[in-house]
Amino acid sequence: MPAAPTSPIDRHALPDAAGHFGQFGGVYVPETLMTALQELAAAYERAKADPAYVSELRRHLKEFAGRPTELYFAERLTAHCGGARIYFKREDLLHTGAHKINNAIGQVLLALRMGKKRIIAETGAGQHGVATAAVCAKFGLQCVIYMGAVDMERQALNVFRMRLMGAEVRGVEAGQKTLKDAVNEAMRDWVTNVRDTHYILGSALGAHPYPMMVRDFHRVIGQEAKEQILVREGRLPDEIVACVGGGSNAIGVFFDFLQDPAVKLIGVEAGGRGITRGEHAARFEGGKLGVLQGSKTYILQNPDGQIELTHSVSAGLDYAAIGPEHAYYRDIGRISYAYATDDEVMETFQLVSRLEGIIPALESTHAIVEGLKRAKALSKDKLVLINLSGRGDKDVNQVAKLLGVSLR
Ligand SMILES: *Cc1c(COP(=O)(O)O)cnc(C)c1O
Repeated sequence: MPAAPTSPIDRHALPDAAGHFGQFGGVYVPETLMTALQELAAAYERAKADPAYVSELRRHLKEFAGRPTELYFAERLTAHCGGARIYFKREDLLHTGAHKINNAIGQVLLALRMGKKRIIAETGAGQHGVATAAVCAKFGLQCVIYMGAVDMERQALNVFRMRLMGAEVRGVEAGQKTLKDAVNEAMRDWVTNVRDTHYILGSALGAHPYPMMVRDFHRVIGQEAKEQILVREGRLPDEIVACVGGGSNAIGVFFDFLQDPAVKLIGVEAGGRGITRGEHAARFEGGKLGVLQGSKTYILQNPDGQIELTHSVSAGLDYAAIGPEHAYYRDIGRISYAYATDDEVMETFQLVSRLEGIIPALESTHAIVEGLKRAKALSKDKLVLINLSGRGDKDVNQVAKLLGVSLR
């Protein structure tokens, strides 16, 4: 048995050596992948401790991705709400439009160190696929992206972007033909080609070491935000809000505040059309403990353990399982979770565009919905920091359609 962490939120102790965050996480994969995951974990531990890797990562995050991202005071939204001062952490300004590039760069550099020549990834909305394709093009690596056939149709523009950057996009016709099925196909490919192939998982999900590794690559969000808010306001924020699909942007912004008990941390899930079976993707609203795609966590499933259908206006939050680290911090009460519905998101998407001149991703808008509610309830001397995980350019067609606006 690995040693128990010395404190429930000891950042150095979680996960344990077998990838557990308390009862969550772990490695639930076929025997054929165990060696690959152990090699990956070992390579990652070595890389993390190597100053050459760390400085190369920093350089590409700056030159290619555009870090550090700004901390932005949302002045008109603050006035509109009449309460706490609202800040956005501008991950939407990163290359390819969202935080996902942080992880893609980190993992590609790791794959290069491991001598892998071929990269595979899954994608739902296409954002992780685009980030991965971009980084693979930059480093001249072969890139195969698995994507559900339904998602390919919904996100045709992102499919074209990936192909422009030299990636092969393989449609998946199994199951619901969406993200979960794309993950299954990617795992199947990895089992077959594990010698020369690295699988870049796109969120803080899956078997160990992925949830830990992906979190670590996104920690830079919270580290920068902490420094920036201290410079701007001379103190830490009162509340930090982030949307939670698999949970990577959220754990990235939260992680370096976990040991600041005065800072409230709030994750926001997709409430879809409301909390009824099949109409949402809020795993903490009716999800149960189970194992999906390598990890033990909260999952939306029926009494027989079949994965429920999920729905959200934002494809990036539309997944039946939540990252295991979130399940842990929710259980011990360190992070709380809320949800935003499609209707709330559509309204706030337009409000933020109009008041701030920033079109947020529909995913990020979930965080803004909750952030605005909280800012309204707080006094003017309080600070609410919202992680703006991505930009909404990818969403404008869908929003136009939902608003009944014809673009031609
Ligand atoms: C993919 C995506 C998300 C959801 O993924 P997490 O791993 O939960 O962060 C959120 N926002 C944007 C803009 C995304 O592209």
